[in-house]
Amino acid sequence: MPDKKSGPKYDCSRCPGYCCSYPRIELLDEDVQRLADHFGIGFKKAERKFAEWYAKDERILRHRKDTVYKTICRFFDREARRCTVYEARPTVCRSYPNGNTCGYYTFLKFERKHQDDPDFIPSA
Ligand code: SF4
Ligand code: SF4
Repeated sequence: MPDKKSGPKYDCSRCPGYCCSYPRIELLDEDVQRLADHFGIGFKKAERKFAEWYAKDERILRHRKDTVYKTICRFFDREARRCTVYEARPTVCRSYPNGNTCGYYTFLKFERKHQDDPDFIPSA
């Protein structure tokens, strides 16, 4: 039985998706393949559509303009503020934030309390 006290201390549904605005989200071969399978297309086509290269040797997710952050992952729903490929999301998205706490969420909670505004979004 999971111990409630040791569960996540962050709530992504209360966050505008800061982690998805990180500009370099790596795509491993298996991540491209998972996305390709999800959309029913081939590896090369998925790579062309969803990825770009950073410093020529790091394959990363494409971004587009956002209303909250400067840019955000192309798979992020900018209205609903959530991932549209959750089941097929890349490895790094599956492991983040690597524990029970999310630094940004802690900051967000602190600022919302401080500003007395439950919807406040600080600039990161
Ligand atoms: S920044 Fe943290 S709280 Fe916000 S969506 Fe990402 S993991 Fe969730
Ligand atoms: S694939 Fe999903 S979880 Fe990963 S950065 Fe993009 S929108 Fe966020």
